[in-house]
Amino acid sequence: MRIRAAVLHEPRRPLVIEEVELAPPHDDEVLVRVAAAGVCHSDVRLADGELGDGRWPLVMGHEGAGVVESVGSLVTHVAPGDHVGFCIVPACRACRECMAGRFNLCIPAAENGPRGTLMDGTSRLSLPDGTPLQHGLMTACFAERTVVAAAGAIKLPPELPLREASLLGCGVVTAFGAVGNAARVQPGESAVVVGCGGVGLQVVAALGLARADPIVAVDLDRAKLELAAARGATHTVESGSATTAARVTRLTGRGADHAFEVVGRPETMRLAWDCLRPGGTAVVVGLAPRGVEVALPAIEFLSDKCIRGSYYGSGDAAADLPRLAELALAGDLDLAGVVTSVEPLEAVNDALDRLRRGEGSRTVLDLDL
Ligand SMILES: [Zn+2]
Ligand SMILES: [Zn+2]
Repeated sequence: MRIRAAVLHEPRRPLVIEEVELAPPHDDEVLVRVAAAGVCHSDVRLADGELGDGRWPLVMGHEGAGVVESVGSLVTHVAPGDHVGFCIVPACRACRECMAGRFNLCIPAAENGPRGTLMDGTSRLSLPDGTPLQHGLMTACFAERTVVAAAGAIKLPPELPLREASLLGCGVVTAFGAVGNAARVQPGESAVVVGCGGVGLQVVAALGLARADPIVAVDLDRAKLELAAARGATHTVESGSATTAARVTRLTGRGADHAFEVVGRPETMRLAWDCLRPGGTAVVVGLAPRGVEVALPAIEFLSDKCIRGSYYGSGDAAADLPRLAELALAGDLDLAGVVTSVEPLEAVNDALDRLRRGEGSRTVLDLDL
């Protein structure tokens, strides 16, 4: 079928909204009518060619939600009409990582995601002239419709508005998993969040639900710090000076038990490290361009300080997404509050430019606008 989609033909060029061809789902795949898609900072990294070569031409979009239109013959967990959120790591549940419970590191998913194919190594997308198109992180949801692996469509309660549901599958699961699965924050522990964009604000919210105290939000931008305070940060610190780490250390006693880096730059990774107390752990959530390295004062390993990464929530998204949807329905997780604009698909390039300039937190593209 013909669908309208946002295509990256070349890095550092605007996406083109055009008609592309979408083939029907295979036996273990699902066709979804996309309702809404979030524009994430990783989209900027991908569009700017910072995640490596060979990633185009590609239909972008990896955070979204929609309604199932048809399913392959082997699919039983969803049916036409179901509301689903997309999951960018459709875990196979059979590989070595999946068997160890590290579903976010599923080996075939890790191979196919950057390749732009679905789980069988092929694409359902092409240009009208037959040129194959890659699927953005196995999701390709900056489009009217998409075909995803069965495990890439997670059933969500229909009461949750799809614009809000669209945020769960990248920003929210990444943030809540970093706090709950990677750092395992306990009530009363102190935490600092370096970077209060779309994901950083969700880290703040997750820390609030985990009853961390104090929760110190750090950002260069005063407007983002105000959003962080509204989402549960107990203190805010404007960064950009040599005293940032000292101010955070003072607010947390001897330094924070947990530091979350949600920017993806070496200087903010170093700042997260510098804010830790002895024995504290920094979790790097931010995505850095390929080739970037980070330096740390090695003597401080003597104080049991740790630094670790967290990818896609370090857990089982298939279980976490429905749980997060229930939190949102119960009023314990404010999804609408991080959305700073809602726009049609055609506005995708403006949304990417705002992220490049560091403005706003989340744009949601509404495919029905
Ligand atoms: Zn993302
Ligand atoms: Zn696997």
